[in-house]
Amino acid sequence: MLILWIVIILLALAVTISSGMWIPSIVGGLLLFAFLAWILISTLSPAVPCRICPGCGEEGLVKIRRGVPGVRCEKCEFVDENLHVAYLDEW
Ligand SMILES: [Zn+2]
Repeated sequence: MLILWIVIILLALAVTISSGMWIPSIVGGLLLFAFLAWILISTLSPAVPCRICPGCGEEGLVKIRRGVPGVRCEKCEFVDENLHVAYLDEW
């Protein structure tokens, strides 16, 4: 799909440059490119959970059970049955 987009953009650039209206189309093309890059970056980098433990301050938080609130720490004895950490299910 990405190659298809690149071909479309290059074709649009070639057409607009050859027709003489190249300044507005370069601005529009840059905006379109930035938009596509932003979508690509946001889909390629998944959300990273904050695993900082309130007990010892290290990145040791893991789920007790998947799908339910409740975390424990791998580095110390910290356990909280009610604490929900976003995105930790996918960790
Ligand atoms: Zn800890």
